[in-house]
Amino acid sequence: MSSPRPFVVVGAGLHGCALAWELARRGGDVVLVERGVPGAEASTAAAGILAPTVEAWAHPSAAAGADGSEEGVAAWMGRESLRLYPAWVRQMEAASQLRVPLNLGGVIVAGDAGPPGSRSLKGAERAEVEPGLAPERPAWMVDGEGWLDPKALAPAVHAAALAAGVRVVQAEVLGVREGEVRTAAGALQGVVVVCAGAWTAQVPGLTALPVRPLRGQVLSLRPPAGFRLDHVVFGAGGYLVPRADGRVLVGSTMEDVGFARGVTPEGLAKLRATAHQLCPQLIDAVELETWSGFRPSTPDGLPLLGTVHGVWVASGHHRNGILLAPYTALSVADAILEGKSLPSALRADRFSA
Ligand SMILES: Cc1cc2nc3c(=O)[nH]c(=O)nc-3n(C[C@H](O)[C@H](O)[C@H](O)COP(=O)(O)OP(=O)(O)OC[C@H]3O[C@@H](n4cnc5c(N)ncnc54)[C@H](O)[C@@H]3O)c2cc1C
Repeated sequence: MSSPRPFVVVGAGLHGCALAWELARRGGDVVLVERGVPGAEASTAAAGILAPTVEAWAHPSAAAGADGSEEGVAAWMGRESLRLYPAWVRQMEAASQLRVPLNLGGVIVAGDAGPPGSRSLKGAERAEVEPGLAPERPAWMVDGEGWLDPKALAPAVHAAALAAGVRVVQAEVLGVREGEVRTAAGALQGVVVVCAGAWTAQVPGLTALPVRPLRGQVLSLRPPAGFRLDHVVFGAGGYLVPRADGRVLVGSTMEDVGFARGVTPEGLAKLRATAHQLCPQLIDAVELETWSGFRPSTPDGLPLLGTVHGVWVASGHHRNGILLAPYTALSVADAILEGKSLPSALRADRFSA
């Protein structure tokens, strides 16, 4: 009997590691090829918001409803991934022996309107739930959504993949085609899966894919004594995200500047304004850290899941790649290993003529 073909996964961000783990867990022989530090790009630059309802409402996909459903594939997929999250995180924790706290106590929209299904936060409940919110802003609660810290999740998923037997090759991928990945260190044969995030369309063999980087800047604050934030708060052109140690992250810009890394005075000024408008006490916060990352964006805001000329692609997760990790890993592994179909609105070749 011939041995099964190995899998060669390109990119050790959250998606590459999650898919490598899923394939290895089901018996696959998996090699993960990464040119840099696993998880060091978008997957740890992210804020870690898990909010499919707010995201689908505030940033409707150009393809919303294209699958014939009322809510559109983005909202459906986000909710499905969020449903999978608690069990998936428990699996990652067990496999990696690392803790990944998941906070699903609701997210808040601070503005004149909230998304469908949200409820108005008023009076004593509002004062109890998030006392630092600017009093003049109406607030809306979306129950059951929340956040996690990607700087805890990404190393755990990477460690889980290693524990499942995934081998990591550190090399620049110079080209892909059906059955082969060419690297600076030689060629690797197997079923090829590209999870190269914002760089997907830079991989020779996939340059026709319309994946572009969209830079996001993030500011981390140490709030003044007595201030606490327990929920993600959207509003004033951005968002605030709590961290377990009391820090508050402020995000994020959406900039079409190619792969120019770094933060800018204008970007940080915008983030400060968001923070001060949502929670006036943050005017007295200490600025701890800033960073930027590249969202892998597509023309319709939806990921690319499927094959292009015999090469599997799981990329283009744009603003919601942390949220969509469990759904992507499970559904793409089902498609590769069992031939199950993926939603047609997500086809990786949907933009080719
Ligand atoms: C500022 C910011 C905030 C965000 N906030 C959220 C959020 O709150 N919630 C949410 O759900 N999502 C959020 N996102 C989006 C999310 O971070 C991304 O969609 C997701 O992390 C993409 O994961 P990935 O594994 O595809 O890409 P990445 O993490 O970027 O990994 C791609 C990997 O591929 C490697 N690679 C690329 N090309 C090659 C090559 N030729 N050879 C070898 N290796 C290669 C890279 O080195 C990299 O390690 C945010 C993104 C940003 C930038």
